Amino acid sequence: MDTNAYIELENKYGANNYHPLDVVLARGSGVWVEDVEGHRYLDCLSAYSAVNQGHVHPKILAALQEQASRITLTSRAFRNDQLGLFYQELSQMSGYEMSLPMNSGAEAVETAVKLARKWAYVVKGVPRYQAEVITCQGNFHGRTISMISTSTEPLYRQDFGPFTPGFVNVPYGDVAAVAQAITPHTAAVLVEPIQGEAGVIVPPKGYLQALRELCDRHQVLMIADEIQTGLGRTGRRFACDHEQVRPDIMVLGKALSGGFYPVSAVLADRPIMGLIQAGEHGSTFGGNPLAAAIARAALRVLEEEKLAENAARLGEYLMEQLAEIPSRYVKEVRGKGLLIGVELHHQLGGARPFCMALKARGILAKETHQHVIRFAPPLVIDQQTIDWALPRIREVLTS
Ligand SMILES: *Cc1c(COP(=O)(O)O)cnc(C)c1O
Repeated sequence: MDTNAYIELENKYGANNYHPLDVVLARGSGVWVEDVEGHRYLDCLSAYSAVNQGHVHPKILAALQEQASRITLTSRAFRNDQLGLFYQELSQMSGYEMSLPMNSGAEAVETAVKLARKWAYVVKGVPRYQAEVITCQGNFHGRTISMISTSTEPLYRQDFGPFTPGFVNVPYGDVAAVAQAITPHTAAVLVEPIQGEAGVIVPPKGYLQALRELCDRHQVLMIADEIQTGLGRTGRRFACDHEQVRPDIMVLGKALSGGFYPVSAVLADRPIMGLIQAGEHGSTFGGNPLAAAIARAALRVLEEEKLAENAARLGEYLMEQLAEIPSRYVKEVRGKGLLIGVELHHQLGGARPFCMALKARGILAKETHQHVIRFAPPLVIDQQTIDWALPRIREVLTS
């Protein structure tokens, strides 16, 4: 079967909910992927930062194979010999006392919102079912009905109401707007440290710290959705670390799996996480031994290979080099670590043709929010590979 045959199958039998580039991948290793016709590409998307550790990392693969040959799913009706170790290692890595494992990112953010609502009723004394969660314009927290209820992107929500109440939207990066939106019923502020899906939007310096102070002053929980920015992507373990901010609740997903299998988690200290009682929340697959073994290996690789440090060093280099490209198409280059957005002038009509031109030169990147090319390669990338990519990117942005 060739590329077109695979694409035809997808188009004929699959829901049309994505608009992928026409490349059919069959293999991956580190920062490289290979299509069914044997063409090799540098992956500059990393599955939206789910493969920070690189494709098919041998140590995570070994953990998966070892665990898959023993036991994969017990349900939480019984205990398993991986989950406790996963909790412990996640706690040691993050500094949070406890965690709650889920599968997808959207589910984990939903879990965080449930936790914040319960905290509001039980601890803060908000009248039952009056709790509000403040979210930001341009956010992306996933595709469930509650998560799209927080969204301001028409495409994500227009045909899918009625929506979950209890969310209030404010402009991103604007602390005063959050301050204004806080009421005695506010349970939490839910924020991405950098808005990835919105086009790599970096808030003003000091934003997270100011949010932290505001939340403390008003007895409001700060929830950071670090599903895309966490685990090394921005050059620190968590993007909140850039401002020495510790959210009350942290949400992780994507790279927690090393790209092998969906694993997400909600992290908090005991006074908050301890509020959840048996039976109040759960998931058949959440915390299963295969997921736990994979996540343990994925976390180990991030630390052993110092991937956050690598992202800081090479991210700075890549961003500098991109900013120096004398391109009449580029409006702005921005980001942190290896989460970089190149925004094109809007009159060009979108970044997609540029992504197709990059693909023709062996680089896979995807437009986000129409006008932005996101460059977010696996964090195992080296300078030599970046130097291979740069002239190709330069060609596309200057021709
Ligand atoms: C990807 C993402 C999600 C949703 O994760 P899924 O696993 O796709 O449900 C939520 N929040 C952020 C910031 C993300 O980048």
